[in-house]
Amino acid sequence: MPHPLNSIAIVILGETSAAIARQIQTTLPNATVYGLTERTQSADKTYANFGDTLRELFTQSTSIIGICAAGILIRTLAPLLCDKRAEPPVIAVAEDGSAVVPLLGGLTGANDLAKAIAAALHTQAAITATGQLRFNIVLEAPPSDYRLANPEHAKSFTSDLIAGATVRLVGEEASWLSQSNLSISAEGTHLIEVTERPVMGSVTHLVYHPVTLQGRLSIIGTGPGSAQWMSPEVKGILQTATDLVGYKTYLDLVGDLAQGKQRHESDNRVEIDRARHALALAAAGKSVVVVSSGDPGVFAMAAAVFEVIDHDANPAWNNLDIHVAPGISAMQAAAAAVGAPLGHDFCAISLSDILKPWEIIEQRIAAAAAADFAIAFYNPVSKQRTWQLTAAKEILLRWRSPTTPVVLARNMGRPGQTVQVSNLGDLTADQADMRTVLIVGSSQTRTVKRANDEVWVYTPRRYEQ
Ligand code: SAH
Repeated sequence: MPHPLNSIAIVILGETSAAIARQIQTTLPNATVYGLTERTQSADKTYANFGDTLRELFTQSTSIIGICAAGILIRTLAPLLCDKRAEPPVIAVAEDGSAVVPLLGGLTGANDLAKAIAAALHTQAAITATGQLRFNIVLEAPPSDYRLANPEHAKSFTSDLIAGATVRLVGEEASWLSQSNLSISAEGTHLIEVTERPVMGSVTHLVYHPVTLQGRLSIIGTGPGSAQWMSPEVKGILQTATDLVGYKTYLDLVGDLAQGKQRHESDNRVEIDRARHALALAAAGKSVVVVSSGDPGVFAMAAAVFEVIDHDANPAWNNLDIHVAPGISAMQAAAAAVGAPLGHDFCAISLSDILKPWEIIEQRIAAAAAADFAIAFYNPVSKQRTWQLTAAKEILLRWRSPTTPVVLARNMGRPGQTVQVSNLGDLTADQADMRTVLIVGSSQTRTVKRANDEVWVYTPRRYEQ
């Protein structure tokens, strides 16, 4: 059945259809009868132009029951058809009530609605959807208190079932599945899972989530770039999301997994506003994902979300299901590309003085250098911040030799990835930008020649006694 909040219009062209319309209204008491102004007298509402009215109802997601020829409905709505998952049910009913034909909205309840109308008119609905006929269920259109997490796999899954595949049900009990005509077996070749957890589905594994009014906020890291560095947990969370919040570049990195989700893009700088917006969306019942690159807890959005929760103390956020899902940080991708420069004690320092004063950064670099940490530098240079890296180098040279290995890793996992090994003495600010992460070795960090002209960089775990 269509969502209970969606309205239903019974559209008639002449007074002769009014009786059938009222008969349908006995099963659908909330439906409104729309009648053509010149030709009807008893309709609930009147309209002057059939085409315009029908298209307006359709775009407002109103379920349409047209007591007229199927062809008229098809021709009128054809220019608007683009998304079968979003279209409302459209049903043609013969003027004498002898035929009920669901035309559109098979995924939003048209078949069940047609059956209800047919029952009221003592006839049969002309159901043509194979899955519905065979299994008495449309896997793509679960009851309104469930949501299919991976609708992109439903079509091929249903085709497999029609071809003879069997289903194993796992997770929470759901009678609409267990009491359907699906061929259910403990050894099923295909899996249907009902769970609240974010699980990654596939062409042989459909995942349904019970819809709860409590919202969920996931703060995820997509890894530095390519999908191969994105965790399966993060992929599952993205699949089940309704809303994505983040900087445009990061949302773009999510690729296909962002499809069909509401995007809330924002400027990279306004982290606190973005975090508050995400919390408000989740409090309104959405399944919200805040997207960071790399790891969400490393110079990224997770801390901003908790800062807002701590500062605002808004009771609406106390019941939210908040979850942080880790990702591979840029320094890990950079380290892996050259060997193991972070193999022993290390730290990470952001050179951005937008959120903290430069004096603090200076002291921290000096302390880390004195303590002989290998150091990963994030946010080394930007268009506005050009001198900080050179200043950092001067501080490091008070404790480190100019021959200390330095790794400059740019665009890791993304198009245009480059990894360069240099040394502290030769480091200049024009070698880095805001897409570069640097690793400066400790006093123990060493290089080893590779077969080509390149070198490995590693920091031994053992200190000579
Ligand atoms: N949360 C991110 C860091 C965000 S701060 C993470 O864990 O990686 C932004 C800084 O991260 C950039 O200025 C750059 O120093 C580094 N960075 C992020 N993605 C990168 C990538 N793909 N390649 C190199 N450095 C990257």
